[in-house]
Amino acid sequence: MTDYSEYIKKCEERLKDKFALIDDIAFKNQQKVLKAFQNNRIAVRHFSGTSGYGYGDEGRDCLGKIYADAFHAEAGIVSPHLLSGTHALSVALFGLLMPGDTLLCVSGMPYDTIRPVISGENIGSLKDYGVAFNCISLTEDGGFNFASISEALKSGSKVKVVYIQRSRGYELRDAFSCRQIGEVCAFVRSCGFDGCIFVDNCYGEFVEESEPTDCGADLIVGSLIKNAGGGIAPTGGYICGKDEYIQKIGRRLTAPSIGLEVGSYEGGYRYFYQGLFMAPHVAAQALKCSLLIGLAMTDLGYKNYPSVDKMPYDITRCIEFGNADDMIKFIREVQYASPVDSYVTCEPWDMPGYDDKIIMAAGTFVSGASIELSADGPVKPPYIAYFQGGLTYEHGKCALSAILDALKK
Ligand SMILES: *Cc1c(COP(=O)(O)O)cnc(C)c1O
Repeated sequence: MTDYSEYIKKCEERLKDKFALIDDIAFKNQQKVLKAFQNNRIAVRHFSGTSGYGYGDEGRDCLGKIYADAFHAEAGIVSPHLLSGTHALSVALFGLLMPGDTLLCVSGMPYDTIRPVISGENIGSLKDYGVAFNCISLTEDGGFNFASISEALKSGSKVKVVYIQRSRGYELRDAFSCRQIGEVCAFVRSCGFDGCIFVDNCYGEFVEESEPTDCGADLIVGSLIKNAGGGIAPTGGYICGKDEYIQKIGRRLTAPSIGLEVGSYEGGYRYFYQGLFMAPHVAAQALKCSLLIGLAMTDLGYKNYPSVDKMPYDITRCIEFGNADDMIKFIREVQYASPVDSYVTCEPWDMPGYDDKIIMAAGTFVSGASIELSADGPVKPPYIAYFQGGLTYEHGKCALSAILDALKK
């Protein structure tokens, strides 16, 4: 393999102001998280596993409290029983919405796996239960469409939840900053809305100094195998926000008669606590990987988003290859550069639920964890790979050398 260390050093020089900002953000977020541990007097006993009903499970209860504290929220549910980001989002929406209510999404169509939750047919979706859905597309330049939002919220509307997705999903837009989320929250309130402002926070945690809960959102939801679990949580999701909403959602997560009083986990909670402790640093590592790979791909002439001239607002990056060959080469190199299953050659395949062939690289310690170095995308024009993660920045550098070698051949 060619030695790219001189080139990488030059890239780092070009990125040094952004890297310094990222370090500063990680420091501030580490302080927040540390304070949350200390304020809640976390001790070794909180890591112990429990069994059966889990009455009085302090590990479970305090885990919710420290996530809530770190996100400046009133309360939180953090649980291995939230099986994924999609499950956490689904439980939260079902906890908040009743038949006859309307869910209003103001950030364009939600992420692929949430769409059937909202409007699937005869699968127990919100729609099947009589919850209506209204979706407002973004403006041409990727901003919120304030005129349409105000129209959708005019008096007499049955909107109970306003939904905002922070990250891009498989859309070609940049993630929203907390400033932008704050603006739309303030606007929604100025329209007289007094229901729940709900943010799908996946991939956004600890990327900025503030979270949507600092900027007017009532509830944030995400996955523990992305940023918020620090690469250490083995599974799970979180829901944090206003206590009244958390209690409603708790009654949906378990049973209306029980709420958040039960739930045990024999495996113990240490990985979840340690994951939150690591999360600010790991999110920073992933951001640096994203910028380094983004700059190198830009140098090679591949358009990618967000532009490397801008600070990213989530850890994901889309790289447009324009041809299947280069896209597949890139994704295969991410797999070859992984610590797990590095000998595997990725192939495009017909994944259930997708119309096009999908190719995915995830040589990860935690199955499918996209806080770890990973890349995927549908093999169709314009051949976009979605890249994210990296538990260590150094791993991103290793992967980049291999990617450069492959793409320059
Ligand atoms: C990943 C993601 C989800 C779903 O999370 P899973 O854990 O994959 O179910 C939801 N929304 C966004 C924006 C995401 O990036």
